[in-house]
Amino acid sequence: MSLNGKTAVVTGSTSGIGLAIARGMAEAGANVVINGFGEAAAIEKERAGIERDFKVRAVYSPADMTRPAEIADMVRLGETTFGSVDVLVNNAGIQHVSPIEDFPIEKWDQIIAINLSSAFHAIRAAVPGMKKRGWGRIISTASAHSLVASPFKSAYIAAKHGIAGLTKTVALELATFKITCNCISPGYVWTPLVERQIPDTMKARNLTKEQVINDVLLAAQPTKQFVTVDQVAALAVYLTGDAASQITGANLSMDGGWTAA
Ligand code: NAD
Repeated sequence: MSLNGKTAVVTGSTSGIGLAIARGMAEAGANVVINGFGEAAAIEKERAGIERDFKVRAVYSPADMTRPAEIADMVRLGETTFGSVDVLVNNAGIQHVSPIEDFPIEKWDQIIAINLSSAFHAIRAAVPGMKKRGWGRIISTASAHSLVASPFKSAYIAAKHGIAGLTKTVALELATFKITCNCISPGYVWTPLVERQIPDTMKARNLTKEQVINDVLLAAQPTKQFVTVDQVAALAVYLTGDAASQITGANLSMDGGWTAA
């Protein structure tokens, strides 16, 4: 398998897209560092499940993506436990839906910290080791909202546009070191993050749950289907392979045609 002997750190991998990516990296042979919030027993079940299902090793980092020192510790945990961090997936993210004039200031700060600045801190910590070993893959989960906007999501969309810019900059800086840096921009993927924003969107737009799903979420997606977490994970794993060594600085859409419109 292509990632045998390598280590992948996946932030926000206790749920949704990150969990699928962590499992995908493990299936490809990597040891993994999982990260994110949740109940200890549920996290341990996922960690042990990865080891059992894919015959690799998995450790859990409780790093809070709003805390730069903890992010550096997470990268160090991968390096000390497994000897290297070869693949870094910046995936942790949260959402808040509100008109801008009511948007809570602390929510703005939290979303910028988790959805954007954490990627900077993790990349900064992981790159020295990647450069030393002469190989690396940096992948961030951006969003269709890194390319286009929707109302009421000012912090999220600002952060995701930021991820797209950070991706391009890092790709250029590392282009001659056999380290690629790309982001994946899914449309709506059915995960707890999407489910949780339905009540707020119902309130902000005065709609029913069915109207939010069909007229707001899937309205943007010409295929009228949600993207699956496994589809995003498969693209992330593809980006780690030799076939993808010349893909760098790219923002790869997986959005059922949303941003083609
Ligand atoms: P999710 O809510 O299922 O998972 C988010 C993960 O981030 C969880 O593991 C959570 O514990 C973790 N997390 C949250 N705050 C954290 C913090 N402070 N420190 C560490 N971990 C933290 O959401 P998801 O839908 O799987 O989203 C994953 C990523 O994909 C996000 O960056 C999101 O913006 C992006 N994305 C999601 C969609 C979608 O439709 N679901 C679409 C495009 C992009």
